[in-house]
Amino acid sequence: MNAVAGPVTSRHEPEDCYGSPLHCWVHGVDEPHKGTAYRICFECNHVYRSEAELVKAYNEGQDEANEIAKRNGWPLIRYRKKTARTIYFCPLCLHDW
Ligand SMILES: [Zn+2]
Ligand SMILES: [Zn+2]
Ligand SMILES: [Zn+2]
Repeated sequence: MNAVAGPVTSRHEPEDCYGSPLHCWVHGVDEPHKGTAYRICFECNHVYRSEAELVKAYNEGQDEANEIAKRNGWPLIRYRKKTARTIYFCPLCLHDW
C-alpha cells in the first residue's frame, strides 16, 4: 500500500497515487478540487473548474484542428463556442460524456 497523504500535483505515474480518484490521465496529476468543479471527465478525470475553462479548452482544440485542416487544404468545419451547453465531449481526451 502506497502512503500518499493527498493529491500529487506534480506529474507522476498513476501507480504513484494508487487509489486517488482525482488522477487526470491527460496531465498526469491529481487534480485538486473541493467538489465545486463545473465538470469532471469520467474518462480521463480531468477537472474543469468552471464553464469558461471548458469552453477555452474546447476552442483551443478547434483552433488546432483548423490549423491542421488549413495545412492539408481540408475544408474548415470547426467552430468556436461561447458556452459549454453544446459541448458533448471532453476536449482533452475526446470522450463523450
Ligand atoms: Zn495521480
Ligand atoms: Zn476527458
Ligand atoms: Zn487534467
